[in-house]
Amino acid sequence: MDQKKIGGFIAARRKDNGLTQNQLAEMLGITDKAVSKWETGKSMPDLSLFCPLCDLLHITLNELLAGEFIPDENLKEKSNQLLLEVVTSLLGEDRWENQTDSSASSVLKIKNIRKVYETESTVTEAVKDVSFEITKGRFVGIMGASGSGKTTLLNMIATIDKATSGQIEIDGHDIAGLSENDLASFRREHLGFVFQEYNLLDTLTVYENIALALTIKQMPKETVKQTIIDLAGKLGISEILHKFPYEISGGQRQRCACIRAIATNPGLILADEPTGALDSHAAAQLLETFVMLCRKYTATVLMVTHDVFSASYCDEILFMQDGKIKASLKREQENKQEFFTRILDTFAKITGGVPYVS
Ligand code: ADP
Ligand code: MG
Repeated sequence: MDQKKIGGFIAARRKDNGLTQNQLAEMLGITDKAVSKWETGKSMPDLSLFCPLCDLLHITLNELLAGEFIPDENLKEKSNQLLLEVVTSLLGEDRWENQTDSSASSVLKIKNIRKVYETESTVTEAVKDVSFEITKGRFVGIMGASGSGKTTLLNMIATIDKATSGQIEIDGHDIAGLSENDLASFRREHLGFVFQEYNLLDTLTVYENIALALTIKQMPKETVKQTIIDLAGKLGISEILHKFPYEISGGQRQRCACIRAIATNPGLILADEPTGALDSHAAAQLLETFVMLCRKYTATVLMVTHDVFSASYCDEILFMQDGKIKASLKREQENKQEFFTRILDTFAKITGGVPYVS
């Protein structure tokens, strides 16, 4: 992967499309400094920006990675070659380490967090003085009716949105202290995402999607293949590794997104309504996968849901209403059904209504 060439190609395509650095940055919700860094080959765009960037520049993902136009007839051959290059290119020192420490250290600490949205006519306090802490290996759910502030809270933790006040500490780092540029690499290093919409890149196979994430994270090439094969075996998707996302089911896609999230070994996996677009069987499989990741890999998962069925897989539930955490529940020595019933009761008490059950 030739960062300078890619940067030059981004710059040329941006100009061809009549955009200034500023305009492109604005469309992507980042700073123009970041765009300038890509264009001079000093940094690569964040993985989450690949698809929107390609759309805006009217190029394919393969062309972005190649840093040049690829004629249709060469597409397959060229994309394989590219992936090989991406995966095998040595990108600096080995930063990969296995997390064996399963002591209950704190992964996420939130203190007095607030978010106020102000428009000309209205002021909305979407999140009001929320504090909580999540320790390593826990599967924590945030429940609440639509409009209660769940996504706003998750986006602040995801470093996508800035808090109005308060403190967020992830893996011991206070994220308020990080610059816009540091945030992109922080996300890459410490966070994994499984969002309803945040899916796989269409022009890459499942294997390539995961390999790309690992390579961007600078995992050494020898480790990439084995990591993917191991995880795919454990999650039961070995047979679909060489299929393209459009060839597999929604549930399989989400499990692939899970592997991609976990494979880079992030401190915290964030999921916003991850089962929202799945049928109940696929939803159950995805939730089992999260549970397994927490138990076996000491992954830590924070999942937003408005669905009691999904919530009953969690170890702990925080209930949000009107921007505040109104109650929390910890799963005791009880099965999913018993926990399900307690969640229903708590939800009904808080909202005075019947929650959503799928
Ligand atoms: P949830 O995810 O629980 O449905 P949200 O976090 O999306 O809730 O929204 C919480 C509140 O904040 C809602 O009243 C919503 O209208 C408001 N809100 C969310 N995003 C914005 C925004 N960008 N500008 C203004 N108000 C917003
Ligand atoms: Mg939401």
